[in-house]
Amino acid sequence: MATMDGGFVDCHCHITAYEFAEDLEDVIKRTREAGVKTLISVTEELSEFERVIQLFKSYPDLVAPCFGIHPVQGCGSHDQHSVKIQDLEPALPLFQKYRDDIVAVGEIGLDFTPWYAPTSQEREEQLTVFTKQLQISKDLDLPVNIHSRSAAKVTIATLKEQGKPSVAMEGVQAGYFFSFPPAVCRNDQKAKLIKQIPLEHICLETDSPALGPEKHVRNEPKNISLVCEYIAHVKGITPQMVIHATTDNALRLFPKIKRLE
Ligand SMILES: [Zn+2]
Repeated sequence: MATMDGGFVDCHCHITAYEFAEDLEDVIKRTREAGVKTLISVTEELSEFERVIQLFKSYPDLVAPCFGIHPVQGCGSHDQHSVKIQDLEPALPLFQKYRDDIVAVGEIGLDFTPWYAPTSQEREEQLTVFTKQLQISKDLDLPVNIHSRSAAKVTIATLKEQGKPSVAMEGVQAGYFFSFPPAVCRNDQKAKLIKQIPLEHICLETDSPALGPEKHVRNEPKNISLVCEYIAHVKGITPQMVIHATTDNALRLFPKIKRLE
């Protein structure tokens, strides 16, 4: 298998987020300088789809685009709401149009936080949107990138029903992958989990601009090296070993990113 020696794969980041709009070129420069070879760039709303494709065209060796309609729409706006089927419908043709370019379907899932989804109708509608996108991922033969909050049971049940492996606590035995963002460095509770999970099942992500090493400070893909060093430290191995293994894992999980090399 091809490997990208010395290069990181950030398995989950939001490069189309408005937080990056003003200085994206600098962010990309720092990303490259930090040795990141691939940014798996998830989306949450239709309005980001063309943008992530545009970034893929601007940085074809770096940006690996994903399409997804998140369970919570309108983040950071006054119109934040639980996802509706109308949020997905206009996106459907784009999944087809760009089926060769996208490397995964995400970020999709369920968010049953009472604040977002107080009624069962809202939860049902989230489930419909989630299930439809799982079907798309099967049709397009793509992996999925999952968001789950206050909905672990239903999320796992739905994934199983749809015959999808998931990045979930259910297990290393089932061939699932676990990925950790820089925020783990400030939460020692995760050290035990990192110790238990074999390196062959770990990926690195930043979830930038969220989940950075410092609270309330914008996260960037370059911070992936901090996660790498932390995992190396916890496991008592070299950062090189962590880079090598996690990049191999990312290539297994997202086979289409090989073409970016
Ligand atoms: Zn995310």
